[in-house]
Amino acid sequence: MESNAEQILELKSIYYAYHNMEGETVALTDISFAMKEGEFVAIVGPSGCGKSTLLSLISGLLEPEKGLIKINGKYLKESTTNIGYMLQHDQLFEWRTIYHNVILGLEIQHMLTTKTKAKAHELLDTYGLKQFENARPSELSGGMRQRAALVRTLVLEPDILLLDEPFSALDYQTRLRVGDDIGQIIKKEHKTAILVTHDLSEAVSLADRVIILTPRPASIQQTLPLIFHLEEDTPLNRRNTPEFKNYFNLIWKEINGNE
Ligand code: ADP
Repeated sequence: MESNAEQILELKSIYYAYHNMEGETVALTDISFAMKEGEFVAIVGPSGCGKSTLLSLISGLLEPEKGLIKINGKYLKESTTNIGYMLQHDQLFEWRTIYHNVILGLEIQHMLTTKTKAKAHELLDTYGLKQFENARPSELSGGMRQRAALVRTLVLEPDILLLDEPFSALDYQTRLRVGDDIGQIIKKEHKTAILVTHDLSEAVSLADRVIILTPRPASIQQTLPLIFHLEEDTPLNRRNTPEFKNYFNLIWKEINGNE
C-alpha cells in the first residue's frame, strides 16, 4: 500500500497481543486498511475479536507490536492530528452543567478561548441543546446526553472520530433514532469516522464501507463498500431499501459462517 496524500489514515500489517501472567492473547494479526478524508467506516466482527483493541491502537492508547499506523502521512507518534473518541457510556459529569461538560476537553487541553467557547455554544445550538446548556446531565434523555457527548467531542475539532459502540447503552427505539441522528451530524460535519458496533443494521445504515473481522485474533475477513441508490442518502432512508436487507444478510452470513 503506497502512502497517498488523500489518505487520512493508513494501517499496515498491524499485529497486537496482550501479555499477562497466563501468557499472551493475540488480538490482531495483519490488519491493513486505509481511509480517505470524510469517509465513514464501520467495523464489525464476533464479540471479543479485537475491535476495541483496534480503536485503542488508532487512538494511540496502545502501540502496535508490529506494523505501522500513519495519519495524514505521518507516523501516529509524530502526528498532530486530533483524534476524538466516543465511548459506550457518555461519561458526562453530573456535577457539571451540559455546557461545562461540553467544554471540559477544551479546558483540559488548555484550548478554552473566546473563539472555542463560541464554537461550543454554536454546536449546542445547532444540535438542539441550547435550552439545556445550564441543565445537569440527569435532566436530559439518553439521546440528548449522547448528542451532548458528541458535541463535547466535536468542539475539539477532531479530524478522525472513533466511535466504540456509542449507542449500545440505549434502549432499542432510542438507539435507532439516536444512531441515525448522530450519523447525520457526523456526515454534516464531514468527519472521518470509524464506528465499532455489534449491531449490523447500525453499520449498514451509517457506513460507506464495512470491514468484517474474523474471530480473534482478528484479521480482515472482508471489506464491503455500501452503495445505495438514494436521492437523499440518510440512515433512515437506507433502512427502507432492498439493498439494506441484502447487505445485512451478506454480513450476517460472513460473521456467522465462522462461528
Ligand atoms: P471486541 O471489542 O471485539 O469485543 P476487544 O478488542 O475488547 O474485543 O478484545 C479482544 C481480545 O483481547 C479479547 O479476547 C479480550 O479478552 C482480550 N483482551 C482485551 N483487553 C485485554 C487486556 N487488557 N488484557 C488481556 N486480554 C485482553
